[in-house]
Amino acid sequence: MNIHEYQAKALFEKFGVAVPRGIAARNPAEFDSALTTLGHDGPFIVKSQIHAGGRGKGTFTDGFKGGVKFAKTRAEALEFAHKMFNNTLVTAQTGPAGRKVQTVYFTAACDIKKEYYLAILLDRTSSRPVIVASTEGGVEIEKVAHETPEKIFKIHIDPAVGLMGFQARQLAFQLGLTGDYFKNAVKLITALYTMWWETDASMVEVNPLITTPDGKVLALDAKVSFDDNALFRHPDLVALRDLNEEDSKEIEASKFNLSYIALDGNIACLVNGAGLAMSTMDIIKHFGGSPANFLDVGGGASKDQVQAAFKIILTDPNVKGIMVNIFGGIMDCNTIATGVVAAARELGLKIPLVVRLEGNNVAAGKKTLADSGLKIDSADSMADAAKKIVQLVA
Ligand code: ADP
Ligand code: MG
Repeated sequence: MNIHEYQAKALFEKFGVAVPRGIAARNPAEFDSALTTLGHDGPFIVKSQIHAGGRGKGTFTDGFKGGVKFAKTRAEALEFAHKMFNNTLVTAQTGPAGRKVQTVYFTAACDIKKEYYLAILLDRTSSRPVIVASTEGGVEIEKVAHETPEKIFKIHIDPAVGLMGFQARQLAFQLGLTGDYFKNAVKLITALYTMWWETDASMVEVNPLITTPDGKVLALDAKVSFDDNALFRHPDLVALRDLNEEDSKEIEASKFNLSYIALDGNIACLVNGAGLAMSTMDIIKHFGGSPANFLDVGGGASKDQVQAAFKIILTDPNVKGIMVNIFGGIMDCNTIATGVVAAARELGLKIPLVVRLEGNNVAAGKKTLADSGLKIDSADSMADAAKKIVQLVA
């Protein structure tokens, strides 16, 4: 689960990570009072709140440039906020459709001495948390990693011990910080790690982290995502979820505990198991088709879940055919078949459907499909199913 920058910064403050003062407004009627509450004469930075980075260099669909704007005066800040609100921002991370801005964040503009990069995430190779920092901030970190890898520093943390003082100091030293900057950076890194750990975050990224001429170290930007599997422990964080930022089909899928990710092809797939779902998308591609989604109904899906999955698939107007690929290891093939038939009847399925079933109770499953009287193509193997559906939608 992702949250907005302004929400992430509120969490930062709670854990003692220094940020510039800021106020978010979700409605143009609040812009003026937000600026009053901010209690600052300017200059300001007005920031579009969307779940995607690269806002500063983004462009709105009406031609207005910049999702992060420097405003000298209060009047200018208001003008930018009005231009951003309800406008659609396209950045390198949003895709061409962009994202509608429904919250604007006003912050005090800071005097920047230098920009750095700081992130905490899980390193799967070493199975440990890793803090990544760089002297090159405010730019794409992937580019820095590619062109000047020596400017990126990493600290691995033993999760049983946590971040040790010397590690935070080593990192601040590697960033070339001294005096107050050094002291403040150590404090910020330590607080940020505590936040990452306590909130079960999967990633925290501060790009840029800055130093100011008067000795401060501040998080100027904040991107935070949480591990969905741990959200049950954090009802306060779940409350920060912004459904406007999520695909409505994905929201519906999460209600039924289905793992669904919308893609831009036209062959929908319904599969049990994440690995099988990925190889199903691959084999559709292999035979010249294009998958419309990733959908894993899980090892023990019920008839209701299969029905819900079908409905979600069919709300995507791009879908021209469906491939069901089930390996009944834990799953009973007949449960899937029953769900498929019920959904196809209820929804009056009008597009081709190819079903490949294998494993537990497969004979009963195939019989259910055959006896349904519905036009369902049965396939003998994954390749056979993929070939058939690709031909049918062609
Ligand atoms: P994004 O990464 O989505 O483009 P940022 O929050 O990083 O958005 O803002 C883009 C750039 O704007 C930053 O790299 C920084 O140079 C500048 N900026 C952002 N917030 C402030 C601020 N409060 N004061 C001064 N400059 C800022
Ligand atoms: Mg940034």
